Amino acid sequence: MAPSHGTVHIRIPCPDCGWAEKRADRTRLARLDEDGATFTAVCLDHGHYESHVDPEDDQPYLDLATLYRNLVKERALGRDPDVLHVMMKGGDWAFGCQLVDGALGALGTPAAQMPMRIFTPQVLAPTGAKLSKSLLREQGTGALPADVEPWMLDTTTWPGELDNYVDSLVWLVGELLTDPKHFFRSFTVRELGRLMSARPTAMPVRAHEMGIYKRYFDLIATGRKTTEIRVNDASRKKIKEGSLIRFRCQGDEVLTRVTRVARYANFDEMFDHESVASVNPLATREEQVNNIRQIYPPEREALGVVAIGIQLVDPPRTI
Ligand SMILES: [Zn+2]
Repeated sequence: MAPSHGTVHIRIPCPDCGWAEKRADRTRLARLDEDGATFTAVCLDHGHYESHVDPEDDQPYLDLATLYRNLVKERALGRDPDVLHVMMKGGDWAFGCQLVDGALGALGTPAAQMPMRIFTPQVLAPTGAKLSKSLLREQGTGALPADVEPWMLDTTTWPGELDNYVDSLVWLVGELLTDPKHFFRSFTVRELGRLMSARPTAMPVRAHEMGIYKRYFDLIATGRKTTEIRVNDASRKKIKEGSLIRFRCQGDEVLTRVTRVARYANFDEMFDHESVASVNPLATREEQVNNIRQIYPPEREALGVVAIGIQLVDPPRTI
């Protein structure tokens, strides 16, 4: 776990000043039994101290180096059979994980408890090194590689309104997600700058985004479906009359404006009040309730139901 150094960095702060040795050179495990672990350490200002670490006691503070911390997290969280924990890390951590995997293997971690990990792309300086924010903090913008545009580190230098900056970033993320292979690579600051300057001059209008099945998408795009049904979860609670909703299906999208919002306890109560044909002109009430309950299990329906009146804003287009 500490290949360059040979000492696992378990840092235990000095009780007088709170500081701890970065590399734990003088930290020793003195005792380990069912009562916990006792460490001895040295503070450069306050000398020798001792600290007792007991899992039953939340008092002692234990600071672990990145590798060891991730081993503890992944080993502990993987034990819960009912939750899928996913580790999200920058791409530079992919190599560090080989050491964590070695340690998880040495602990006899079963395959089913091995963590799922997703690595995000890195932003690279022209040299191929990760663009280091801590270096910039220490050395100032004088240390910036030539291709870093000022807005990449300081949003106030964006040449335009804040809304345009946000829309441009959202657009960039959308572009990167158009193909999974974009995600599994890294981007130089120069390439990010090039992509951003390729953005459309007019940004897409802001709207709530909703995915939808093809058969319903076609009914909305042709103006035959004017009521959309969803469960009333956190994201739907923000939808109000006049809001815009962009429905997406495969490569197609259609922009609609909300004409009214009605909330109900469940789908039966909803269909007592809503026009069945406005939800779907091609199916009976009974068929529709069956279809909807295949999409939403009872615990989702228990959130309540929202019926959203919609009208077309733009003709559908293919992106
Ligand atoms: Zn101290």
